[in-house]
Amino acid sequence: KILDNKVALVTGAGSGIGLAIAKLYAKEGAKVVVSDINEEHGKSAVAEIKSAGGEATFVKADTSNPEQVEALIKATVEAYGRLDIACNNAGIGGEQATTGDYSIDSWKKVLNVNLDGVFYGCKYELNQMEKNGGGVIVNIASIHGTVAAPLSSAYTTSKHAVVGLTKNIGVEYGQKNIRCNAVGPAYIETPLLESASGDMKEALTAKHPMGRLGKSEEVAELVLFLSSEKSSFMTGGYYLVDGGYTAI
Ligand code: NAD
Repeated sequence: KILDNKVALVTGAGSGIGLAIAKLYAKEGAKVVVSDINEEHGKSAVAEIKSAGGEATFVKADTSNPEQVEALIKATVEAYGRLDIACNNAGIGGEQATTGDYSIDSWKKVLNVNLDGVFYGCKYELNQMEKNGGGVIVNIASIHGTVAAPLSSAYTTSKHAVVGLTKNIGVEYGQKNIRCNAVGPAYIETPLLESASGDMKEALTAKHPMGRLGKSEEVAELVLFLSSEKSSFMTGGYYLVDGGYTAI
């Protein structure tokens, strides 16, 4: 298995893309810390991983709170002794409005989770990875790390910023045996999209040249590759998994 003996952390792992990543990491032999703000979902993810023969533990944390993120990394090391792989996945969509009407509260909330939360994760993960001699970080951005999402300025801004943060880390830690890459999924069938109406889903689907939305498992495969030694010369990059969305 390609992640045998590795210790991996996934934020927002109670649902959707994060859950698929945590399950795949565990299937590939990693000991996984499943973290989420939602305790019920996080615990059920751990139960699912264990019943499939994997090793996992739940640690509750709100990624937009730096103290909780610092405590999360500490709890990971207490549970499994080190940190080799971290996937900063927790994120939210936020309000839908044109930029002039975008509420300041929603702007702050989205940036706080999608950008500040990823920075807090990276900060404490990097410090721990330096202590244990190396590691790999994968940040979940979006296609909206490179193209607009009309009516979601805060989301587009946060995801572009995650791509920038990822580049900086790639450059700063290139010689410290720590790699950091970002992933850009297009629209994926997850609970995040459940609130969308049938018409909106159809319109979204039509934007993908492959004629369908993506699956969480398809994102997880790319994340696994970037988390493993198979991507040993890749850092500071941003990789799409988008059914052709950004190619048009
Ligand atoms: P989801 O809503 O299914 O899951 C997100 C998980 O993150 C939930 O379990 C939620 O409880 C948790 N979470 C939310 N805020 C948190 C916080 N402050 N601290 C800790 N956990 C928190 O969403 P998803 O679709 O699986 O999205 C996961 C990531 O993928 C997000 O960063 C999202 O922006 C990104 N993404 C999603 C899509 C898509 O179409 N679904 C496309 C591109 C990128």
